[in-house]
Formats: sequence, structure tokens, C-alpha cells
Amino acid sequence: MMIVMQETATAEEIEAVVSRVERAGAHAHRSEGARVTVIGAIGDVEQDACVADLGLEGQPGVDRVVPILKPYKLASAQFRHGERSILDIAGAKVGGGHFALIAGPCTVESRDQVLSTAHAVREGGAAMFRGGAYKPRTSPYSFQGLGVEGLKLLAEAKLQTGLPIVTELMDMRDIDAVLEVADVIQIGARNMQNYPLLSEVGRSGRPALLKRGLSARLDELLMAAEYILKEGNSDVMLCERGIRTFESSYRFTLDLMAIPVLKEMTHLPVIVDPSHAAGRRDLVAPLSLAAAAAGADGIIVEVHPRPDEAICDGPQALEADGFAEYATAVRSAAELAGRALSAV
Ligand code: PEP
Ligand code: MN
Repeated sequence: MMIVMQETATAEEIEAVVSRVERAGAHAHRSEGARVTVIGAIGDVEQDACVADLGLEGQPGVDRVVPILKPYKLASAQFRHGERSILDIAGAKVGGGHFALIAGPCTVESRDQVLSTAHAVREGGAAMFRGGAYKPRTSPYSFQGLGVEGLKLLAEAKLQTGLPIVTELMDMRDIDAVLEVADVIQIGARNMQNYPLLSEVGRSGRPALLKRGLSARLDELLMAAEYILKEGNSDVMLCERGIRTFESSYRFTLDLMAIPVLKEMTHLPVIVDPSHAAGRRDLVAPLSLAAAAAGADGIIVEVHPRPDEAICDGPQALEADGFAEYATAVRSAAELAGRALSAV
């Protein structure tokens, strides 16, 4: 149930509604828009019925009470009645006309690799730096990431460049270490439906970048986002990174249609990862331009100073030397779609 307050509602009136909702056993999620406050009363079917029986419509400050029609309640476009969410990651904005370029290596490999890439992408116009210290690898025999040592290198990159850090969390036991450095916690495609992990990231309050699972539908992606939002963490961006289809000529099929369709379904920002979809460097630029022109709110792309020597995902990494040129082209495509490139 969604309780839309009047524009003139006072703090006391809002508080009174929140406590009545909570007494009925539902969670009360406050969402303060530019004009009005909306209180989402989120609960199971029984709690919903209790809230419906409260007669909140007549309560001072309440404009109207409307049911939220989708199962992904807090993530639904309806919940923000058309207003888009804008995330502010240490000054870098994503969503609602702000386009963020997130760039960096697949994996943190060495001090030299991390720092040289971070400087190159910063100079080229990236708003955030990505790099994995914990890597989800298909084979248990592949390099699994540098772990805490890798996180320390990311912290150094942040200190030197000022770029906010996006890094993946795979295991709840590493959350404290990851929180030391991550400005954005990445949940990888393989963990999209790891519900305890999603709830933990929700409770951490740290912005999250949630990747679409390899075979996940958009409603399943939004239900996964709901786990984070439900814990009171409203800073979630969704990421299309390619899905499995019958096509085998390339690694994954980048589902560009997900961009406009997700925008219809949700208020959350939608970004695109062209690197993992393509698996090939030469496809990364055309896919990035298409994603930006289709209205994506950002791109997360892999960059390496010497892709041939990369331990992980080298064939899809852009060369750090060519990053500035790539960023200029992406900026034009984003501008075509009415978005301005974010910077820190
Ligand atoms: C990554 O971003 O390095 C990664 C492993 O991505 P995904 O979870 O989309 O495969
Ligand atoms: Mn990778």
C-alpha cells in the first residue's frame, strides 16, 4: 500500500502515519520526493489488509492511499510516481539525466596495474573506478582475486585519483573488509539471487550495483533489488550485462531492450556492462554507444594497461591508452539521449 501525503503535510502528520502503519505490523518506507512524501506500507498479504483497514485516507496530511500493483513494490516506478532515482556516489551522480562512466580492470592484479589504470580512466573522464578483489570464476582452479591485498590497492587508487570505488562482494564474511573501501558494492550476475547477501548489502546502507543474472528475467532482477531496498537502502543501480540465449556466435546477448523496459518498470538507474556481454574488445565500443543512445544511465567497462597480460578477461578489456577516445564517443551518444556525463 502506498500512502501519498499532501504537499502541505507536516513532519508530525507524516510521523503519525508511519507509526500507525508500523502498529499494523507492516514496514513503513519513507520516500521524500521533490514535492511530496510517500510512505510505502510494505508487508505480507495479511499486513496489507490491516493497513487497508486503518482508514488512513481521512487522517490529517494524507492525500490518498493506493495499492502498489507490482510485487516489486519499492522498486516499482509507481512507488516514486514517475520520479527517477538519482544516486550520488561521493559526488558522481547516476540516473535522472546523469550518466556515469565506471571503468577499470576486471581484476586487481598488481599495484602498477591498478594505479596506472586508475589514472588513465580518471584522465579519460571516468566518474568511478572498478576492480575486483574477490572474483567469481567459472573454474575453481582459476585465479580467485587478491582479496584483502586487492582492497588495499583499490584504497590507494581512490586516494590518488579521488575516484569512488566499485568492487564486488561475493561472500558475507568479507563485508567488513569490502565496506572499508567500496563506495559501491557490486553484486555479480551469479549472486543476483543470493538473497541473504542482498539483505546484508541492504542493511549495510552502502550503494549497490546489482547485475542481472545470466538467465534472469527483468521482474526477477527487480525482486532481487527489492531485497536491498526493503532493508532501507534506496541506493541501488541495476546493470544489464548480457544474458544467455540460443546464439553462440558471441559470449552473451546484450539485452538492450532491457534499458527502456526497465525504465518503464522501475525508478532505479539502469547501467550497462558491454565488456562481459561481448567477451571481445572490438564489440565493446559499438555496444557502449548503443547502450548510451538507448538511454542507459551509465556504463561499467573493463580497461587494462596491457590486456594481453591480464590474468582475467583480457580479450574484452579496452586498452588504457585508448580510453579517453572511447569516453569521448560514449559521451556524445549519452548526450544524444539527453544525458550529461558525471564527473567527480
Ligand atoms: C565482473 O564485473 O567482473 C563480473 C564478473 O561480472 P558478472 O558478474 O556480470 O559476470
Ligand atoms: Mn571481468
